[in-house]
Amino acid sequence: MNQDYIQANEWSILEEGFDGERVKSSESLFSIGNGVMGQRANFEEHYSGPSFQGSYIGGVYYPDKTKVGWWKNGYPEYFAKVLNAPNWIGINVFVNDEALDLFTCKKVEGFKRELNMKEGFHRRSFIATLPNDIEISVKATRFLSIVEDELGAIDFEIEVLNSDAEVRFEPYLDGGITNTDANWEERFWKTLEVKSEANKGFVLSKTLKTEFHVNTYMQSEVLLNGEKQNVDFTETKTENQLTFSYALKAEKGQKLSLRKYAGYVTDMNHKRSDLVEAASKVLDYATKAGFSKLLQEQKEAWAKIWEMADITIEGDVKAQQGIRFNIFQLNQTYLGKDERLNIGPKGFTGEKYGGSTYWDTEAYCIPFYMATKDQQVARNLLTYRYNHLDKAIENAEKLGFPNGAALYPMVTMNGEESHNEWEITFEEIHRNGAMVYAIYNYVRYTGDFDYIPEKGLEVMIAIARFWQQRVNFSKDRNKYVMLGVTGPNEYENNVHNNWYTNYLAKWCIEYCLETIEKVKDAYAEDYERVMGKTKINEGELAKWKEVAENMYFPYSEEHEVFLQQDGFLDKEIVPIAELDKSQRPINQKWSWDRILRSCYIKQADVLQGFYFFEDHFSKKELEKHFDYYEPITVHESSLSPCVHSIQAALLGRTKQAYDFYLRTSRLDLDDYNKEVEQGCHITSMAGTWMSIVEGFGGMRVKDDQLSFNPTIPEDWKSYSFKVNFRDQILKVKVSAENTIFHLEGENLIEINVNGKAVEVQPNQEFAV
Ligand code: BGC
Repeated sequence: MNQDYIQANEWSILEEGFDGERVKSSESLFSIGNGVMGQRANFEEHYSGPSFQGSYIGGVYYPDKTKVGWWKNGYPEYFAKVLNAPNWIGINVFVNDEALDLFTCKKVEGFKRELNMKEGFHRRSFIATLPNDIEISVKATRFLSIVEDELGAIDFEIEVLNSDAEVRFEPYLDGGITNTDANWEERFWKTLEVKSEANKGFVLSKTLKTEFHVNTYMQSEVLLNGEKQNVDFTETKTENQLTFSYALKAEKGQKLSLRKYAGYVTDMNHKRSDLVEAASKVLDYATKAGFSKLLQEQKEAWAKIWEMADITIEGDVKAQQGIRFNIFQLNQTYLGKDERLNIGPKGFTGEKYGGSTYWDTEAYCIPFYMATKDQQVARNLLTYRYNHLDKAIENAEKLGFPNGAALYPMVTMNGEESHNEWEITFEEIHRNGAMVYAIYNYVRYTGDFDYIPEKGLEVMIAIARFWQQRVNFSKDRNKYVMLGVTGPNEYENNVHNNWYTNYLAKWCIEYCLETIEKVKDAYAEDYERVMGKTKINEGELAKWKEVAENMYFPYSEEHEVFLQQDGFLDKEIVPIAELDKSQRPINQKWSWDRILRSCYIKQADVLQGFYFFEDHFSKKELEKHFDYYEPITVHESSLSPCVHSIQAALLGRTKQAYDFYLRTSRLDLDDYNKEVEQGCHITSMAGTWMSIVEGFGGMRVKDDQLSFNPTIPEDWKSYSFKVNFRDQILKVKVSAENTIFHLEGENLIEINVNGKAVEVQPNQEFAV
């Protein structure tokens, strides 16, 4: 843990007291989003202290020309970045001409911030003494509507406490925005027009190169003690900015508020020529409804999300807050309505990872979305990759793998590879296997095998082709080997025979071979189409088989474990427990070569394989591998602790599972990795969900049935979750005494609890 200022609360993230040092961390933690756009919790009013401005629109990106020290053939031309977009939250506030700026105020008292996760809004309140000694009380509420997802709303309320005063609100739009992360300090946006129609304001901009057209818009209302006022306003236009200025006299104790409705409409959803009209319509809807009604709709919409996705934990407020924060952020990032969008590792909370898509989606996020939303949402996520198949084939071809082999990118916005560190771009190829694993996982869970003949099989064939071409035969070992790879553990580069990658490759080929047979038998038409399109023949299939049957796996007879890679035993194995705390996190303390030579593992690697393919190994084997690798795993990737939590729970080590659970669920709230300022770790939040449902709940899908093996951490009175399994909703509540199942659906389902088959009748509680 690295910070402890967030107060424990079941439904809210709370901060009390103003501290400039915490502003950037809080901007990440209090971020808001609606699955389509999102933003860091920057202040509406001007703030001259250190801050990291960020507002993002899903899918709107810029190809930032690659910058590397030494160019290597095959590098992608650019890194695709979801951009910091024009600012619409800005409201400058002046009291008797003195600007409100928390950094320069004489005093800030009673500062409170709340991210209300239940109802989906952000609120700040404080009392500030301005440099001119005027004391004001401020309450600012903001949300991004998930009902009307192009719209955001702000209610900025001021009360002058110690005198009468003139208050000036200056709501503005600013298109002159830059990215903190820009390779060549290029401008990414061009403002096309700054426009107003009565009290509606618009800044029309486009991204350079990608030419996304965005209209950032606003309209404001002024209220005195809750009554709308007709206030004259003035407007100022500059090259990139539009400001409206509303001035009012307020008597001491009167409440003035500015309500600002604003947001983005883009040409992803509207014709370019209609962008002003589209924004104008949203504004008409918003001003007609008014702030309170919009907020009410927001609460109701969030209630629906929580109805399905909530996990309750009784008896441990920090654990409860942690899981709700994770579920809330996941829903703020992706709601599954638009198959062009995906889940960036930082969601809409920062610039790192460029807002692009990683293997995180397939390896970590799919289970959460499958179980807490309609089945179509997970299908959309798979389809996203299906739509990128041609690009993945091009990518492989560029790197020398012909004949329809596909290498999916490590990082992408549009299917093209964007990552530009050679040890990852060219070598972290295990990501390819995650694409197939996600298809397998989806079909296993939903029973929607139709996806495979329709789309999945083409992806699987192209990936099997890649693996067959990527290995080579070693005469020395009389086996197929895979040289020069980086496994999930990025603290090793360019290693040979990373066990996880080899295992995944073998499995992908075998699963594809088996699936081709199934499709041949049951989907003759699709079979013909796919065979015709991929031009696959018996000779090629025989080659795949030969590779899968003769893959090499590094193994230690002495330790009875698979080795992470060739030569792993040459390392000096010193458990982390013996490493001085001052050396951690090693990625901030050690030189890169020292990390590479060390035995320390960034994130689950061999154990990631044991997680994916749990059924392939005995519990005893898992235990051996866990005991070997866990003591040397530093979990410096957010994706790691959840896997270890699930495995510790399976091994009956509930206390250890609980510690990992806290680490994954409160990774950002407690800033374990000392980097929350950069944004939150969104994709690993789905792993947190897994660590409860699959870890403590022990939920698995076997032979078209759900099975559970529940256990409960010592201090918890109970926990509960819901899963949508094949269109029936099953609620599971676990306590130390029993597990209660409740099925919302029409048909009874058979499940397996602690190894015994039981039947759950619809709409009745069933206790085991
Ligand atoms: C991890 C990768 C992950 C990426 C984005 C890296 O630190 O090592 O596995 O895909 O972060 O979350």
